[in-house]
Amino acid sequence: MNQIIKEAENVLMHTYNRYPVVLDHGKDMYLYDINGKRYLDFTSGIGVYAIGYGDEEYNSALKSQVDLLLHTSNYFYNVPTLEAVKKLSSATGLDRVFFTNSGAEAVEGAIKLARKYHYKKTGKDGGEIISMEHSFHGRSMGALSITGTKKYRDPFEPLIGGVKFAKFNDLNSVKTLINNNTCAIIMEPVQGEGGIYPASEEFIKGVRKLCDEKGIILIFDEIQCGMGRTGHMFAYQGYDVKPDIVTCAKALGCGVPVGAFAASENIAAAFEPGDHGTTYGGNPFVGAAVSKVFDIFESKNILDNVNKMGKYLSEKLQTLVSAYDIITGYRGKGLMQGLEFSIPVKDIIADSLDMGLILISAGTNVIRFLPPLILEKKHIEEMIEILTNCLKKTVTK
Ligand SMILES: *Cc1c(COP(=O)(O)O)cnc(C)c1O
Repeated sequence: MNQIIKEAENVLMHTYNRYPVVLDHGKDMYLYDINGKRYLDFTSGIGVYAIGYGDEEYNSALKSQVDLLLHTSNYFYNVPTLEAVKKLSSATGLDRVFFTNSGAEAVEGAIKLARKYHYKKTGKDGGEIISMEHSFHGRSMGALSITGTKKYRDPFEPLIGGVKFAKFNDLNSVKTLINNNTCAIIMEPVQGEGGIYPASEEFIKGVRKLCDEKGIILIFDEIQCGMGRTGHMFAYQGYDVKPDIVTCAKALGCGVPVGAFAASENIAAAFEPGDHGTTYGGNPFVGAAVSKVFDIFESKNILDNVNKMGKYLSEKLQTLVSAYDIITGYRGKGLMQGLEFSIPVKDIIADSLDMGLILISAGTNVIRFLPPLILEKKHIEEMIEILTNCLKKTVTK
C-alpha cells in the first residue's frame, strides 16, 4: 500500500490530506482495502453511497445501460433520463429538473436561474443573493462565492458580487440584509460541512414567509441533507416548507457523478434555450442510475430505516456525550448526525481508521456520521464499540 500511496502523492494535486488507505471494493456497509482489511463505513463516501456498496440491482442496471448507450448530448431525448427526471420531480414536488455532473454545478445552475428570473422580472441585472454563515455550497467560483467560510473564499477573490451572509437560525439577521434588489436566499436545511446544524423550524418557516412577502426566490441546497438522509426524501419536507429551487447531488446517483436542480414552473420559465447547458449532464448512464436509486429507496423502505436507525444512533451518541467530558455536544437529524468535541477530532478519526471504522469530521471539532442508509442496529453497535475504544484511548493519553 505504501508504494501506491507514495506514487499517488507524487502525481495528485495536493488538495486533500488523504488517509493512508488504498480502497479496493465494498459490500453493504463495509469497504475493503487492497490487502483485504475490512472497514465499517460511517461516511458513505461523504453522503453518496446511500444504498450501500455492491447493490446487485443497482449494479446490474448500470451494466445494462453501458451496453446500450452512455451518452447522447442534450440535443436528444432518452428514456432512462426521462424516468429519472419524473421521479426527481415527483420526490421534490417541483415541476422542472436540470441534471448536472456535480453538486457545485447544481448550485451554479440554481443561482443562474435565480439571477435570470430577477433580470426578467425587474429588467435589471445585479440581483443580490443572501447566503448563510458556515454554509457550504461547493468549490466552483459561483458556488464558492456563496459559501459562508471566509478562509475558503479569500484566496480566490474577486468572486461573484452581490452576495451577503446572514447568521444561520437568526431571522433578524436575514431581514436586515434584504433590499429591493435581493433575488434569492440560499440555505442548507441542515448544514453539513459547517458542522451538522439543523435549521430551526421557526427560522426556516420565517425565511419562507419573508421570501413570499418580498417575492424572493428561496433555494434549498439539499446536496447533503436530501435523498432520504434526514428521514424525509428532502429535509424541507420534515419542516413542511417548500423551496422555489432545490439542489441535489451526492446520494442522487449513489456513486455516478450526478447532480440536479429542480424548480417550480414559474421560476424555471425564466430559462430560455441558450441560457444554460451541459455536455454530459443527465446522460442516459446517470439517468439509469438515478432512476434505479429511486426504485431501491422504495423497494427497500429506505426512509423507514433512516427513521428507525436514526433514532437508535442518536440515543447511542447521546450516551457518549454524557460519558465523556471531551464530547461537548450532539446534533443531527435522521442519519446525518454529529458529535462536537472540545478538542480537534483528527486523531480520534485516525485511530478509528486503524481499528477498522471510517469516520469523517465536519470542521475541526465535529465528527460527522453519514452512514449508508441501509445500516442495521448491529452496525451502530459495532461503530459505537470501536469509537468507545478510541475515546478511552484518547482520554487516558
Ligand atoms: C458536497 C456539497 C456541495 C458540493 O457538491 P460537489 O459534488 O462536491 O460539487 C454543495 N453543497 C452541499 C450542501 C454539499 O454538501
